[in-house]
Amino acid sequence: MSSPPQLPDELVERLRSVRSVGAITGAGISHESGIRTYRGRGGLYDDPEEGDRTVEALSAPTLVIDPDRTWAAIAGLARQAGAASPSLAHRALVEIESKVERFVLLTQNVDGLHRRAGSRNVIEIHGDILETECLGCGRVERLSFEELQACETAPRCEDCDGLIRPRVVLFGELLPADKVLRIRLELYASIPDLLLVVGTSALFPYITDPVAVAQRAGSVTIEINPEATASTDLVEYHLRGKASEYLPLVAAAL
Ligand code: NAD
Ligand code: ZN
Repeated sequence: MSSPPQLPDELVERLRSVRSVGAITGAGISHESGIRTYRGRGGLYDDPEEGDRTVEALSAPTLVIDPDRTWAAIAGLARQAGAASPSLAHRALVEIESKVERFVLLTQNVDGLHRRAGSRNVIEIHGDILETECLGCGRVERLSFEELQACETAPRCEDCDGLIRPRVVLFGELLPADKVLRIRLELYASIPDLLLVVGTSALFPYITDPVAVAQRAGSVTIEINPEATASTDLVEYHLRGKASEYLPLVAAAL
């Protein structure tokens, strides 16, 4: 039998003086809520063709050429997200936010689980799956999971008959400028004492750069992931395990 996970004593000691926290999360933190990741064990890319098909369906060119295909993929993710509830890991981040003077959570997830858990200062850099936007008149709407799951083909706007798109960042699209500015202000202009990177394969520079910046500034840097990623060499502590095992320990130590 393996022993329960623990934080190194010296890390527990350092966490006591932490006043500000930045957390970066990816699909892995929602894995224990029943939502499939893309990469990592058990992810879509276990079958490379299935992985490629999904990424292609959720890409900017497909939205233009075959919007029904993009919407079918969105409806599939909505079914998973609608059936999911926040895990111990999502809740531990809420506890961390309540314990420190300053907290920012940068997530790549579009499932809304951080907000549903009660996290407040969240940058949903890839958007929120429940939001839609009309490409004709710009009308923004917020749907329920039930409404979204019913969108197996691309919906049309009731006002102008324009194509409605999901308000998430598709592969090949630019990040929203207002959210990039928030990353600069909250993770660069003011570097947190503790930077956590959890459940992301961390492929993008806007994920790895804040980790490298915090590390160079002498902040405590921790990755929580059962596998090694592009962030592993940048952090001081790689806690090799599940988010729901380690995040509650970090919350308790603050
Ligand atoms: P990813 O799928 O590329 O990587 C998931 C990572 O999580 C892997 O490194 C894996 O080892 C790790 N992991 C798996 N289970 C874990 C656990 N219990 N605790 C901690 N770590 C665990 O995810 P990504 O880096 O977020 O990139 C995927 C992209 O696809 C993102 O851009 C995201 O927008 C989108 N996406 C979102 C969702 C969602 O909203 N839940 C789900 C799938 C994909
Ligand atoms: Zn419209």
